[in-house]
Amino acid sequence: MIPAALVGWYLADLASGVIHMTMDYWPARPGVGFNQLYFYPGDRSSAAYEGLRRDVMARVGPFQRLVYDFKNHHPRPDALGRRSMKVLIGSSVAAGTLPASLLLNLWCFIAPPPGWLVVCGISLIVGGTFAQYFHGTLHRAANPWIIRAMRRVGLLMTPAAHQKHHDSLKRDFATNNGWSNPLLNPIFALLYRRGVLTDAGLEPTR
Ligand SMILES: [Zn+2]
Ligand SMILES: [Zn+2]
Repeated sequence: MIPAALVGWYLADLASGVIHMTMDYWPARPGVGFNQLYFYPGDRSSAAYEGLRRDVMARVGPFQRLVYDFKNHHPRPDALGRRSMKVLIGSSVAAGTLPASLLLNLWCFIAPPPGWLVVCGISLIVGGTFAQYFHGTLHRAANPWIIRAMRRVGLLMTPAAHQKHHDSLKRDFATNNGWSNPLLNPIFALLYRRGVLTDAGLEPTR
């Protein structure tokens, strides 16, 4: 069960990396004002900015909001660290880990899988649920003791390791503990060389 829990923890890291890579390079929809938000020259705590943000976000669905949030994270990384846990885990729970958890429960109810597989699934679901929260802790100075303890034993990555992503935006997309980055980095390099992922996707356009 312990190896299975670690495999689940690895898979959660891999999922964080695949989603992050996709969202960073997926083009934000043009013509809805994402570029005005992204390059906003004034005060971001002003009512004018808040109003603009509300207008733009009302024009798009949850997927494009997420796509924008990932891009916006690069020039303004600390904003993620200021968000509440509820905001950070909400979309992961709603779109991913709550349905996965219900399916796992259903599976256990109908035809119980081996215990190690359940442990692997729970570890993956917990790691997936908190993925964006873990990413947020990398952009915040003060964190709960459990985050510091998990970093010390390597279950979560350090801010220094995550900085490698922000320095290039071309590597180390996984943000839970980075265990899957040695696998994902060559995959990214290949997709980038082939032109599947291009720099044009990194910032919103008019
Ligand atoms: Zn990124
Ligand atoms: Zn980051």
